[in-house]
Amino acid sequence: MEKTFDINALREILHQNTTQNTGKYTYREIDESQVCSELEDIFIISPQRLREICKVFVKEMEAGLKSDDCTLKMIPSFVTNRPTGKEVGTYLALDLGGTNFRVCEINLEGQSKVRLRAKKFTIPDDAKTADQTVLFDFLAESIAIFIKEYNINTDNEINLGFTFSFPVQQTALNEGTILLWNKGFNCANSIGKDVVSLLAEALARKQLKVNVVALVNDTVGTLMSHAYVDPGTCVGVILGTGTNAAYVESVDAIPKWKGGPVKSNEMIINSEWGAFDNERKVLPWSKYDEQQDQEGNNPGRQTFEKMISGMYLGEIVRLVCKDLIERKILFGGMSSTEMDTPGKFETAYMSRIERDHTSELTDTKMVLQEILKIPYVAPRDRRIVRRICELVAIRAARLAACGVAAVVTKMNRVDTGCTVAIDGSVYEHYPHFDNRMRDALHELFGMFSENVSLQLGKDGSGIGAAVIAALADK
Ligand code: ADP
Ligand code: MG
Repeated sequence: MEKTFDINALREILHQNTTQNTGKYTYREIDESQVCSELEDIFIISPQRLREICKVFVKEMEAGLKSDDCTLKMIPSFVTNRPTGKEVGTYLALDLGGTNFRVCEINLEGQSKVRLRAKKFTIPDDAKTADQTVLFDFLAESIAIFIKEYNINTDNEINLGFTFSFPVQQTALNEGTILLWNKGFNCANSIGKDVVSLLAEALARKQLKVNVVALVNDTVGTLMSHAYVDPGTCVGVILGTGTNAAYVESVDAIPKWKGGPVKSNEMIINSEWGAFDNERKVLPWSKYDEQQDQEGNNPGRQTFEKMISGMYLGEIVRLVCKDLIERKILFGGMSSTEMDTPGKFETAYMSRIERDHTSELTDTKMVLQEILKIPYVAPRDRRIVRRICELVAIRAARLAACGVAAVVTKMNRVDTGCTVAIDGSVYEHYPHFDNRMRDALHELFGMFSENVSLQLGKDGSGIGAAVIAALADK
């Protein structure tokens, strides 16, 4: 196999617009616009398709509220009151999201004011997939470190809200069994166990005087923490490692609820929308999505999430690049170990590439050559990669908007409007993500889209757990 090549000769080849065979190296320079238009056909979602997806989404939500055997789990959170902004007190919160793990101390000061002190911990990779006690002991140990470092007073026990952003069948505000791990976690022997007990036992092993009073999904937390400052908040969305949403439903509209009457007649529902369309009925699932699904965790599951969230977007881009490299229409057909390794094309690189507004796409070149070690990246290649990022991210934003639109439609709030609190690095940091979502909402709702206010709900998953713990205290 011939491996050596002369980079200058290659450069020449790359700039010629014909099929070349030097004897050493075959390379087809297909017209840039032709390459892009093939990809556009795969990734662009028409307004009509958006409407179709939205319609199916609403139906699936209704089905999930009737029965547990549906794709959308529509899990009652046992949170039945929204805050007034007057709640006060000091609480601990744990935020286990997927990528980051934080311990927080939260002071609710009333008048919608919050003080937060937080410390980030990195979860060791082996704890993510080992025996459950390894993970929960690590969580307890982190709390112990935090209490010591921040001098937290636990003389009279301190209440803690536990934000646990994995699918849980909630059975009480402070009780819920693990249904499934995702986002790179897999503590197999914990499936079916109560998460609160697992944490409480680990805390007891460390003799910490911490009382776990609420088990909170991060979407519910995001909703509740934003509601503490903006009472019009009815939806909480996560666009981070994974994606999910929670919203305010009326108890009458939850046929499967067997928990008796609820005074407020309101229940926050955790939709677990990441699983939407696991049947692959309506989403524009491509060969690249299929490949990623087959090669990654939980094949056949979390279909919607795999097209939207941070854990997957970069990987989709990598698979598209690899395909084009193998067909010898990108990078002169040359790959690298980095480019060939799953997970090496981070979603954050897409952000960087999309933020590159230099005429030569110099930063894009940096990412591809310096980080991903592609030997030579012609300006044409940079433009193509940038377009791939754009297409994958636009598709993600439009699908996320579709989910929001479905929830708002389900709540009957298209006319009356509501605030949607959104947390997560993809929404916060990915350039234009917000505008792309707004565009799609406009395509779906026309002028009514202005009634839907998308707001960044930062730190929601931590603060929300404290707000819920405070409401549980009353
Ligand atoms: P978690 O989901 O664990 O709560 P985050 O909300 O911070 O954490 O989301 C982390 C995800 O966001 C990662 O999958 C990462 O790929 C992605 N991410 C991090 N930084 C950026 C960025 N600048 N642009 C786009 N995505 C990012
Ligand atoms: Mg998070």
